Amino acid sequence: MKPAIHPSPASFDGRALINGKRVAAQSGQWFDCVSPVDGRILTQVARCAEADVNAAVAAARAAFEDHRWSGMPPAQRKRILIRFADLLLEHADALALTETLDMGKPVKYARSVDVTSAANCIRWYGEAVDKVYDEIAPTARTALALITREPVGVVGVIVPWNYPMIMAAWKIAPALASGNSVVLKPSEKSPLTALRMADLALEAGVPEGVFNVVTGMGPEAGSPLALHMDVDCIAFTGSTRVGKQIHVMAGQSNLKRAWTELGGKSPNIVFADCPNLDRAVEAAVGSIFFNQGESCNAPSRLYVQAEIKERFLEKALALVPAYAPANPLLPDTVMGALVDQIQMNSVLRYIDIGKAEGAKVIAGGEQALRETGGCYVQPTIFDGVTGGMTIAREEIFGPVLSVLTFTDAADAVRQANASVYGLQAGVWTSDLNKAHGVARALRAGTVHVNQYDEDDITVPFGGFKQSGVGRDKSLHAFDKYTETKTTWIRIDSPV
Ligand code: NAD
Repeated sequence: MKPAIHPSPASFDGRALINGKRVAAQSGQWFDCVSPVDGRILTQVARCAEADVNAAVAAARAAFEDHRWSGMPPAQRKRILIRFADLLLEHADALALTETLDMGKPVKYARSVDVTSAANCIRWYGEAVDKVYDEIAPTARTALALITREPVGVVGVIVPWNYPMIMAAWKIAPALASGNSVVLKPSEKSPLTALRMADLALEAGVPEGVFNVVTGMGPEAGSPLALHMDVDCIAFTGSTRVGKQIHVMAGQSNLKRAWTELGGKSPNIVFADCPNLDRAVEAAVGSIFFNQGESCNAPSRLYVQAEIKERFLEKALALVPAYAPANPLLPDTVMGALVDQIQMNSVLRYIDIGKAEGAKVIAGGEQALRETGGCYVQPTIFDGVTGGMTIAREEIFGPVLSVLTFTDAADAVRQANASVYGLQAGVWTSDLNKAHGVARALRAGTVHVNQYDEDDITVPFGGFKQSGVGRDKSLHAFDKYTETKTTWIRIDSPV
């Protein structure tokens, strides 16, 4: 398998972006950016550490204090953010290609989902800048109480590699729209599009120092950001393991506000009275295999009511061949490469554990396209899974579906809620009472009824329990990046 296109390392600029300039790490160190498509080195990326984070935070602080961004008339900030979104779309093909080479997802989805959603998010928050009003409290006539929103200041953003542009956009868009300065640390596994986003933000007119990107390893570049005494807020998306450390680091330093969007093991419950079994099967299979299963909200625990399990699995197995991994640079590919060797080996290890614990592989279960040097895993379905098994409890973050059964609504809810996570859930039934009752009983930030793919920037996204603290998207996200101030004014009425 030969990639259709493979730019030379010179096509990418792996330097960090601090105070409006592309810069090498102060240590002079770099790390290899390896493509999971075929194992080739794409380019070298600045291996930033504490000194670089300090420089980025200082630039962000200076930009915040002189009000070059927060003091701009809202209508002008709005225009700049909308221009930023437009530029992302103007560069959509190049951004999509970069994303695919960097993290392995099919280029058609990188183009139609990642770039488009990131641009839409930035446009939406840009448009909101001059439409969100402050409040006046209903107090006595002798006083006026103004309740105003102010930017928190310097926002540190740390994101993962599965949707690099979207995860960054969900945080930088509301943070910038509300007037903050930002220091973004992308994942070391997918740093390239974040750097291009910051270039384009500058080009759109976001002033120097307002949006900085430090590249590097989590403990070397992420921790100094989370521990920094001059960062007012840290917004993190990633694993629950690191998310817990982020809250500790916030507490150990300046008690910066910490927002975390973390892991998931989302249950998808299909009752025998499901209104459209074919649609339920397509959604169950399509959602777990989309993005190679590397989605925090993937419905990785499928609960099928016992009496329809065989019929359900027969239909599911018929769909699996359509998800055979292929070169993600080809336009029709729907399943690409996992992000790197480490992630691929982790997924394969979970598959081995599933087999060892007694679950039955009914589809896939092996590495794929080994000869390419890339990181591919067959779409995999396990039948005969029980709640105590590792593959029913832990987030695999790969194309692996665990199938379990249940008897009635109470049993389904009990099993579905028996998880440390609570990101999303699905329910399929024709019974309105059952749909509402089960949706209410599920401990999850989002519940899908008779579909699993609705999504919009207008609705909050985030989890219960160890899936995190806070919500991305929608106007609710402004709460994360603004302080609420009350100003009391005495009124000695002359009349
Ligand atoms: P990860 O936690 O390993 O890394 C996430 C980010 O944290 C990376 O930028 C990494 O460099 C950084 N990091 C790692 N160690 C750090 C440290 N000690 N201090 C500071 N920063 C550190 O996660 P990942 O493997 O990149 O992403 C996969 C995880 O992200 C999955 O668990 C997935 O569910 C989760 N995720 C959640 C959501 C959501 O909205 N809830 C969305 C996407 C991904």
